[in-house]
Amino acid sequence: MSVRNTLILNHSDLKYLLIDSLRLYSDNVVFIDGNNPYRFSINKKTFYVLIKNVHESGDGRGNQDECRIQISQSKNFNDAMNSKTEVIVLGYFADEKVFTAWNPYLMRDRFNQKQTISLYSRFSIQKEANTTKISAYRDTNGQSVLSFQPDYLGLYLENLSKIHLLTDAELFDLVRQSDNLNNKNLDGEVDYPEGHLTITHTRYKRDPRFKSIVYNAYNNKCAMCSIGLELIEAAHIVPHSHEKGTDEIGNGISLCALHHTAYDRSLIYFDTEFNILINTTKMEYLEKVGLDSGFRKFQALAFDKIQLPTNHTLHPNIENINLANQSRGII
Ligand SMILES: [Zn+2]
Repeated sequence: MSVRNTLILNHSDLKYLLIDSLRLYSDNVVFIDGNNPYRFSINKKTFYVLIKNVHESGDGRGNQDECRIQISQSKNFNDAMNSKTEVIVLGYFADEKVFTAWNPYLMRDRFNQKQTISLYSRFSIQKEANTTKISAYRDTNGQSVLSFQPDYLGLYLENLSKIHLLTDAELFDLVRQSDNLNNKNLDGEVDYPEGHLTITHTRYKRDPRFKSIVYNAYNNKCAMCSIGLELIEAAHIVPHSHEKGTDEIGNGISLCALHHTAYDRSLIYFDTEFNILINTTKMEYLEKVGLDSGFRKFQALAFDKIQLPTNHTLHPNIENINLANQSRGII
């Protein structure tokens, strides 16, 4: 039997993996709440996502290529299934860095019948998806189980109702069209015999007025490290994608390009007393997946406290700070 050295991600790792993956597709991503299933919105549409590590099937399996996830009934999951929000079931196979998705429209009935269900796919399909971006396993019932790179999780969710019906050629075409549009920051629509599919790569443009108000308030310096050097950006505290993500000064902070990205990636944040904090659960996740290089340098760069404007009326709004940390999946 082949021994796979599979990396297993925990609940918070999987949450950050989901947020990071969805943002490859659109800026309009908000983490709402939940702990596997997680509730997210992307392009203003809300989903529950239940995600499990893909692993080998049980000892008795006859096919070495077979892999699966197992889902047990739980209160969290049942509540999600009983809501009107779509519930998506995903597997993640860290060795190949791909997601695997089973048709959610076939799930509800099965969950009502059994305490635990197993959903199967093939290791070879996941390996293939790592190279070809997307790949479909069709089981004995003709059901398509899709494996794809993280870049296409948003595309998958956006076209959930039809994507499992596409042929291999149509899947490759959809991914190619999504890449083309993403390179040009454009949105689009594609017609297939199975129906109309949409591609929405929402990328926000910055409001120039917001920018100048924030720059002036913070004296053209990063509030976390005081670097200026034309590297500063006007960051939204509550993300612009959120309905409360306004362009007012109480929702703005001046950050250098590094700290702006780190803040939006939930790597660094600040609390309502303006202490600057490293998000240790995200760091643990990055360490696990081998993306933690330069951490000490990064940590040394930030002060302990946000460098606030002298004028109190220009300070970040406390409610915004809490909402921001929640919508970034931190608290
Ligand atoms: Zn900075």
